[in-house]
Order: sequence, then structure tokens, then C-alpha cells
Amino acid sequence: MSVEKAGGRLYSGKRASLPATRQFPVIQKMVESMAHLQEEKLRLQQELLALQEKLSARENEEIAVSVQLQGQVANLKANLLDQAEEISRLRSELGGTDLEKHRDLLAAENERLRQEMKACEGELRALRQQQQQRQQAPCLACEHVQENGRLQERLAQLQREVEEARAKLSELDLEVQQKTNRLAEVELRLKDSLAEKAEEEERLSRRLRDSQETIASLKSQPQQIKYIIKTVEVESSKAKQALCESQLRNQYLQEQVGMQRQVLKEMEQQLQSSQKTAAQLRAQIMMYEAELERAHGQMLEEMQAMEDEKNRAIEEAFSRAQVEMKAVHENLAGVRTNLLTLQPALRTLTNDYNSLKRQVRDFPLLLQETLRSARLEIGQAIEEVNSTNRELLRKYRRELQLRKKCHNELVRLKGNIRVFGRVRPITKEDGEGAEATNAVTFDPDDDAVLHLMHKGKQVSFELDKVFPPQATQEDVFQEVQALVTSCIDGYNVCIFAYGQTGAGKTYTMEGTSANPGINQRALQLLFAEVRGKAADWDYGITVSVAEIYNEALRDLLGKEPQEKLEIKLCPDGSGQLYVPGLTEFRVQSVEDINKVFEFGHVNRATECTNLNEHSSRSHALLIVTVRGLDRSTGLRTTGKLNLVDLAGSERVGRSGAEGSRLREAQYINKSLSALGDVIYALRSRQGHVPFRNSKLTYLLQDSLSGDSKTLMMVQVSPAEKNSSETLCSLKFAERVRSVELGPVSRKAELASWPSQEQLEGDSPGAAPPAARGHAAPSPGPPAARAASIRRKLQTSGKLRPVPV
Ligand code: ADP
Ligand code: MG
Repeated sequence: MSVEKAGGRLYSGKRASLPATRQFPVIQKMVESMAHLQEEKLRLQQELLALQEKLSARENEEIAVSVQLQGQVANLKANLLDQAEEISRLRSELGGTDLEKHRDLLAAENERLRQEMKACEGELRALRQQQQQRQQAPCLACEHVQENGRLQERLAQLQREVEEARAKLSELDLEVQQKTNRLAEVELRLKDSLAEKAEEEERLSRRLRDSQETIASLKSQPQQIKYIIKTVEVESSKAKQALCESQLRNQYLQEQVGMQRQVLKEMEQQLQSSQKTAAQLRAQIMMYEAELERAHGQMLEEMQAMEDEKNRAIEEAFSRAQVEMKAVHENLAGVRTNLLTLQPALRTLTNDYNSLKRQVRDFPLLLQETLRSARLEIGQAIEEVNSTNRELLRKYRRELQLRKKCHNELVRLKGNIRVFGRVRPITKEDGEGAEATNAVTFDPDDDAVLHLMHKGKQVSFELDKVFPPQATQEDVFQEVQALVTSCIDGYNVCIFAYGQTGAGKTYTMEGTSANPGINQRALQLLFAEVRGKAADWDYGITVSVAEIYNEALRDLLGKEPQEKLEIKLCPDGSGQLYVPGLTEFRVQSVEDINKVFEFGHVNRATECTNLNEHSSRSHALLIVTVRGLDRSTGLRTTGKLNLVDLAGSERVGRSGAEGSRLREAQYINKSLSALGDVIYALRSRQGHVPFRNSKLTYLLQDSLSGDSKTLMMVQVSPAEKNSSETLCSLKFAERVRSVELGPVSRKAELASWPSQEQLEGDSPGAAPPAARGHAAPSPGPPAARAASIRRKLQTSGKLRPVPV
């Protein structure tokens, strides 16, 4: 269009200038211009020719280019066709269809497997039910159960494997899906590029047509060639550019095709690997199928075996049930007959039941009635028991009194003063030679008699009992223990150890720690007795330890042992004596006793310079008080056991002792004589007993009077050198003992006890010690008294008189 307009303007400009050149000089000019125009025309013709040549060359070129382009387009078409073919081939060969087919196949297989699995599960469920039934039935063998368990495990494993295969399959499905999508994408892109290519081709062919048309129009309009040439030139450059672009486009498309091919190749490779995997999976699935088949077969076999087993068991059970049924029928028949016989029994039972029901209804009333009567009966019984108890208690008390009376009578008959003699063995202290020879012998047939060789003559003595040197502490205590226990019954008891120093008094009373004497044994016995009576009685045992030295009483358990104690009458008017400030210790065990003794010993030792000497010059007293309470009767008893280790009875005064030694001797003499006097007065039942003549007798007044019991243990040394003292001691013993034999009249005859000197019997004229002071009147001269004693002794029995 623009070309046409330009051509129009060019022609109109030339027509306006022609009339001016045809005028003269204008004509000249016109001729010149004509010539010039002719030249110009020639030049233009030449140019046109050149242009035509150029154009034709260009045309040829264009034709060649279009041919080339056509060739290229044909090539591209062919390529496109090839690609389309390739794509369709690929599609038919490997593409989505195969994968889809494969997927479909897998899906179908999967479905089949699923159905099979369902069937298997159904079978399994049925088998489980059967198994449960069999487990309930007692006859099944557990082998099947185990086999079933194994099969179930296997099945579960297979199911797991199938699950895995399924998972893999679904993965593959996904992959195939992805690949299909990518293929579709590639196809789309290919389609797009084909469409683009077709468009381009279309455009190019259009342009070619345009160019050809232009060339044709140019050919038909040679006058406008100049402009057309320009246009062609312009068009030609455009065509060149378009060609260039289409070449670039073509190149790009070829590159794209190359890339697509590459992608296609990769996809082929992927497809191959997928196919491989699919083949593997298929093989696996086949394997699983075979395994499943096998398991299934096995399961079927097992099921068959189980079925057989079940049938067998059922048959067995059936036959057993038949047998049982028969037995049951038989039983039933028996039961029926029983029922027939039981009916009357049932009737009677019903009657019984009804009567029982009535009884139960009446039971509370009956019970109340019975309880009331039972209560009454029990009350009566209790009353009876109480009255019986009261009667028994009364009888018991009477019996107690009777017992005491009998005891008193017994004591009276036996004498409540008993005299024992104990001869110690010869010791090292006795020395050697004639002086240490044995002067004491015994009667093998009579344990109450002993013989003493004194100054060449044998003197015999009869006591209540004589202990030879070999007698043990235990033997001695055996004879003493009855006295000790009577203290529990409320009697007062005195046990004296009498004899010269070294004769064994302390040994008999205290003994040694390894071999204790009467003191410790008596307390132990008391403890044992008290324990034995603990069910009915409450007992308390207390001890005091005292010493009488030079007529002074001292408390060896007190805080101030040197303090002199006084003996006083009880202010309650009972006439009882007591020692204010005398310490009493409550003892319950041997340990307590040992502590008390030790304490006493320590106190005694601190008060003197020579304990041995001191102890032989003083009386040691262990006072045991036993207080009892009979819980049932409320009866209270108090018994006192006085265990006295007397001072040495040897005659010191005669050996010319002076000063304190003489004083000690006089005090000892006085107290021992006072003891003799008291015993005598008691035995001869005198109205007045001179208790107050010494501290010892005054202190022991309660324990010496009344129905108290006294034991005098006369200790003697068997050594020849001590025979004089032994004689004295034995005479004292015999006289003490002989007192009870005399009639009441003796009161008048033997109103006073002989002194120690008198006891010796070989000094008739000796005067009594100055310190001695009897409250009782002295009835006559000592010689007459001695003669009287001798007379009594002669009349008393087998004893020979002591040679005077
Ligand atoms: P006393 O107390 O009369 O002065 P002892 O009891 O101290 O006399 O005795 C003096 C010695 O004789 C002591 O060594 C004692 O062990 C010993 N003795 C006394 N009697 C016996 C006996 N029966 N058996 C063995 N040794 C005894
Ligand atoms: Mg002694």
C-alpha cells in the first residue's frame, strides 16, 4: 500500500515539469533535459536491467531459499512425522499402555490375592473356632494346637510379606502414574512444538506466496521497478531476517527434539528398571503364592487331620455319652425308686421341719426361760461355792492354828533349844607334833556323841547332833534348814556359833565365797521358799548387820558404823524392842546378799586395826526379817532369823591379860554367861528371864522368848593343844542341852548359869568376873551349883561325869 502511494507521488511530480522544457531556450533546456532524461532513462534501464538481473538473481536466490526452506519444512515435517511415529511407536511399544496393562494385571492379581487372603482368613477363623471348641473338649491332643499355632504364625508371616508386596506394588503404580504423566507432558510439548512448527511453516509459505506475488506484481509493473526494487530490497532483508529466525527456531526445535529424545531415553531406562523390578516382584509374588499354596495345602491337611481327630473324638464322646447315658438311665431308675421310697420319709421330714420351725419360733422364749433358770442355778452354785470357800478358809485357818500348835508341841517335845557340835579338821595352823594330834573321836553308831581325850582321859559328850571334820557346809545346812524355813511361818529363830577362837565359827556361819556357810545358804533358801509361795503370799526380806563389841551395839550397814546404838521399847506399848537407826536393807537375790555382806565387812574392817583379832572379840549379827502377807486371808506374819557369830569363848582373863585386852575378855565373858543365863531361865520356864544383863540377850529378847527356836552350834578344835578349851565348850553345850531335861523345880536349883571359868570345872574357887551382873538372885554357892549339875548329868543318861 505504502509502495503504491510512493509511486503515485513520483509520477505527478514529472508531469508538472514537462511543458517548461519544451519552450525555446526552454526547448533547449527541454532537449537537454530530454537528453538528460534519455540518459537518465538509459541509466535507469540499465539500472533496471541490473535490478532485473539482481531481481532475477534474487528471485533465483529466493526460489532457491524457498526451495531450501520448503526442503527444510519438508524435512521438519518428515522429522515431525518421524517423531509422531516415534512417539506412537514408543507409546505402543512401552508407553502408558504397557505400564497400564502391567498395573492392571498387578491390580487384578492383587485383587485375587486379596480374595484368597480373605478366604484364608475365613478358613483361619473357622479353624480357630474349631480349635476353641476342641480346647473346650478335653480329648484333644495339644500337638494339633501347636501345629495350628505354627501355621498361624506362618500365615501371619505370609500376610506380612503380601502386605509388603502390596506396598511395593502401590509404589510401582505411583511411579508408572508419574511416568505416564511425564509422557503426557512430553506429548503435549511435542504437540505444541509441532503446532508451532506448522504455524511457522504456514507463515513462511504465506510469506513466500506474498513474495512471489510481489515479484509477479513487480514484473508486471516495470515502471515502478525503482520503488519496488527498494521494497524488494527491504522485503528481502526482512525475508532474510525471517529466514534467519526460522533457522534459529528450527535449531531450537531440533535441540528440543534432541532433549526430548534424551528424556525419552532416560524414561526408557527407567521403564526398563521398572520392568525389572516388576519382574522381580512378579517372581516374589509367585513365590509367595507358592508359599501360600503350600501353607494352604498344609493347612488343609491339618484341617483334614483335625477334622478326622474331631470326628474320632466325637465318636468316642458319643460312645462314652451313650454308656454314660445308659448309666444315667439306670441311676434315674434307681433314683425314681428311691424317690418313691423317699416320699414318705420326706413327708415325715416336712412334719419334723414344721415342728422345728415352731420350736425355733418358740426358742427365744425358751432360751430366756432357760437362761433365767441357768442364772438362778449358777447364782446358787456360786453361793454354794462361796459358802464352801468360807468353810474351807475357816478350816484352813483352824488347820494353820492347829499346825502351829502341833509345831509348838513338837518343839516343846524336842526342845526349842537344840545344840549341835561341829569339829573342824586339823589345819596347818595347829602346827605339828604332839600338840597337833587329834583329841576328838566319834561314836560310829551314834552321831550325837563325841569323845575328847583330855589330860589322858576320854570324856564323852552327848549333843543333839555332832558334825565330824569331814561334814560339809551342805551337810550342816541340811540340819539347819528346817529352822530357817520356820522363820517364813512367823517364828523367830536364833542360830549361835559358839566356841574358842579358831574353832570354825566364822567358817560355819559365813564360810568362804566358794563354799558359803549358813548365812548365805539361809537367805538363798528363804528366797526359794518365798518364790514358791508367791502365788498366795507377798513376802519382803530385809537384813541388818550389827556388831556388839565391849557391850556397844553398832550398825555395820549404817552411814556411821562407829555410832553406838540403843535398844528401846517400842512406843506403841506392844512391849517389843527396837533399835532406832539400825539400817535395814531389802534383799531379793544372792547378789544383794553379797553386796550387803561386803558392805558390812568393809565397815567392820575400817573400824579396827586387826580384823581377825577384832572379830574374835566381838559378836557379829546378821538379822534377817521376813514379813509375809497372805493375800487370800489378809494374815500377816513376821519372822526373825538371827545368825550370830559369837566372840571367842576362850578364857583370856586367866592368862593374866591386862588393860583393854582384859576389858574385852570380861565383856565377852559377861555376854556369853548372860546368854547361858537367859537360855537356862527360858528352858526352866522361870518367871523372870534376865535378858537385860547383856546387849546381846537384850537385843535378841524377842527371838529367844516365846515359841522362838534357838540353835547353838558349838565349834570345837580337834587339836590336842586346844583340848582344855574344847572341854569347856562341850561342857557349855551339854549344859545348855541338859536344861530341858530337868523338872521345873530346877528353877530353884540352877537359878544361875556357870561362868566360863566355872564351866572349865577345874577351878571351883574362881570368882565370877567383876563385870558380870545377874538380875536373877543367886541361890547358893557355886560349888553346890556345880555338884547339882553333875548330879543332874548323871541322872540324865549314859554320860559319864566330867572328872573334877
Ligand atoms: P573362828 O571364827 O571360830 O575364830 P574360823 O572360822 O576363822 O574360826 O576358822 C579358823 C580356821 O579353820 C580357818 O582357816 C577356817 O578356814 C578353818 N576351818 C574352820 N572350820 C573348818 C572346817 N569345817 N573345814 C575346813 N576348815 C575349817
Ligand atoms: Mg571368827
